[in-house]
Amino acid sequence: MQTAGRPPPATPGTAARAADAPLPRIDRVPATAYIAAMALRDILILPDKRLRQVSEPVKKIDAGIRKLIEDMLETMYDAPGIGLAAIQVGTPKRIITMDLAKKEEPKNPQVFINPEILWTSQEKATNEEGCLSIPEYYSDVERPAQVKVKYLDREGEPREIEANGLLATCLQHEIDHLNGVLFIDHLSKLKRDRVLKKFTKAAKRAAE
Ligand SMILES: [Zn+2]
Repeated sequence: MQTAGRPPPATPGTAARAADAPLPRIDRVPATAYIAAMALRDILILPDKRLRQVSEPVKKIDAGIRKLIEDMLETMYDAPGIGLAAIQVGTPKRIITMDLAKKEEPKNPQVFINPEILWTSQEKATNEEGCLSIPEYYSDVERPAQVKVKYLDREGEPREIEANGLLATCLQHEIDHLNGVLFIDHLSKLKRDRVLKKFTKAAKRAAE
């Protein structure tokens, strides 16, 4: 899906004006190719089999990866969601985007490339989770309360963080995606089967 309604670049002198009126003295900044190229990507929805793929590590942060990250952030904000894994837009690369800023706070886009969980706490925490690939379904999930994660930032710099609270939950949820695991896999079989059935039916109806 492309972003709709982006106007074509302005060409000086094409706007309607009186024959003898002077040209407006405004320097227009043309949209750069980079901005013009940003696009929303379709989010895969359960039971799409690609969500079960194990994603490949990123070997080099090249133009394609940078573009993917920009598109993932735009897609995540548009959804709206607080975290997105690349496989959710159909690209099996180990990349996660996240923004846990509250509504009144400025945006805080975070990018985790090739994230690895180094340590998890014995202590557990239960939080309600939802997923852009399983829209409008929420359930409590129990996970380790704290995690230590190493990853590369978007410049390729190695970093390590210790997380708790929402960040710990979100990191584990998104890293699961990179391994083909969904949050419903942490629920009872009964609950999981119920959700799967509902989404499989919906997918069939949509395909008709
Ligand atoms: Zn998810």
